[in-house]
Amino acid sequence: MLNERYDVCIIGAGISGVCAAYELNKRTNLSILVVEQGDEILKRSCPKLKDKSITKCLKCRNCSIMKGFGGAGSFSDGKYNITTEFGGWLSDYISDEEVMEMIYYVDDINMEFGAINTITDDDSEFVKKFSKKALEYDLHLQKAKVKHIGTENNFEILAKMYDFLKSQKRIKIMCNTKISSIEKLTKEVKYPYQLSLEEGKGYIHCQYLIAAPGRSGSVWFSEQCQKLGIKLSNNQVDIGVRVELPAEIMEEVTDELYEAKLTYLTKCHKHRVRTFCMNPYGYVVNENVDGIITVNGHSYADVNMRSKNTNFALLVSLTFTEPFKEPNKYARQIASLVNMIGGDDIIVQRFGDLKEGRRSTVEKINRSTVKPTLTATPGNLGLAIPHDPLQDIIETIEVLNNIVPGIANVDTLLYGLEVKFYSDKPDLDKNLQVKGYDNFYAIGDGAGITRGLAQAGASGIIAARAIIQKENS
Ligand SMILES: Cc1cc2nc3c(=O)[nH]c(=O)nc-3n(C[C@H](O)[C@H](O)[C@H](O)COP(=O)(O)OP(=O)(O)OC[C@H]3O[C@@H](n4cnc5c(N)ncnc54)[C@H](O)[C@@H]3O)c2cc1C
Repeated sequence: MLNERYDVCIIGAGISGVCAAYELNKRTNLSILVVEQGDEILKRSCPKLKDKSITKCLKCRNCSIMKGFGGAGSFSDGKYNITTEFGGWLSDYISDEEVMEMIYYVDDINMEFGAINTITDDDSEFVKKFSKKALEYDLHLQKAKVKHIGTENNFEILAKMYDFLKSQKRIKIMCNTKISSIEKLTKEVKYPYQLSLEEGKGYIHCQYLIAAPGRSGSVWFSEQCQKLGIKLSNNQVDIGVRVELPAEIMEEVTDELYEAKLTYLTKCHKHRVRTFCMNPYGYVVNENVDGIITVNGHSYADVNMRSKNTNFALLVSLTFTEPFKEPNKYARQIASLVNMIGGDDIIVQRFGDLKEGRRSTVEKINRSTVKPTLTATPGNLGLAIPHDPLQDIIETIEVLNNIVPGIANVDTLLYGLEVKFYSDKPDLDKNLQVKGYDNFYAIGDGAGITRGLAQAGASGIIAARAIIQKENS
């Protein structure tokens, strides 16, 4: 049975954990263990993406899209949003300037491993004109510089990071290993944090603990926090659909901006709806969130790998008040209802059918001018998505049609359910250290403080630098 001691243990090898390991290795002599429940990066492969004859998600125990070295970002679009306006809440802990400095530092790390140098301009004449036109319809454009690395290049960069970290003598990477429990031993002075490995494989003890479990590990992490008496908060979840349409419709916008993040307050229910995660010439993909199939999207930088469609998420933000405290559970119930109606799969529906309250059928989808990039069950999202968010979605698509004509076409495809879970947020100080737990840091999406690659990476740097400062003093 394993029983090892390390100065630092990092739970999770997503971009936040990887950046923390990189920085600690660069600036300290500490021994570092990175534990990851999924596969090492080159072994990660989704059966559905690899074999076209597989039309349904196989619900693998460790979903290759979400878990493994590189985390959820490995098959992502590799879109780094250079902004504090969205993608996380690090500005709640440190100043905007400091967050931007960390984001650019993460970009430097990516470039060291081969990332491109091109960042989109968020202040061009087109952006100004588009933003003004959007405002006429009460649509608000969130400006941000974007670096689009592309799915294939992003994967390659992470693979190079894996090789680099693995070659460092003070770092050990343990894949296919899940931490099942976190304990703090009061008797232990030097290595107080005890981590149990799943299936009784043993224990790890460490002086500094960095939890970077991502969204896929967020439920587990909340349970650990509750057990340790750490205060948590979250009252929000975003639910919606993935919209897919011919790339020409969005071309003017996507060529200039790459992605247009627009927010809109609906007239029908006063809910905030946003466009998010735009993938020009991209693909809609499945996501397996602990057995529930939801949707997401990605796109390649290589023009030869492009599809003819563009997709983006359209999400309704729902905030709950007393007595309800379980927004993630609420979204899971809706997503599982979609799966149930879709025959254990996601549902695809034409916008025209949704508006008429009719299901889409295989024939209608086959006749549609928009050819789906993901095999899903044609059906009726209106049977699963509650009335209010459904009306919010329809209203927003029609308003968007004013600034990008064609979005509200009958054949525009909607895939459901897309969910953005908000992880429970533990009480953290400005160094992302858990309040009341010395040397225990929580970073990235799983700690509820980030929602994207750039800020997740930055959060890893913040925690690493806090440890470096402690070591230096
Ligand atoms: C398909 C897709 C496309 C996306 N596209 C973009 C994009 O273009 N731009 C963008 O900014 N963001 C994008 N995102 C979001 C982005 O990937 C995340 O914000 C980012 O990966 C968060 O990093 P993280 O390190 O916090 O967590 P993750 O990347 O989720 O990594 C956490 C890791 O921890 C591991 N883990 C969890 N619990 C345990 C445990 N108990 N023991 C051991 N290991 C554990 C998990 O297996 C996982 O590998 C996308 C996400 C998906 C799924």
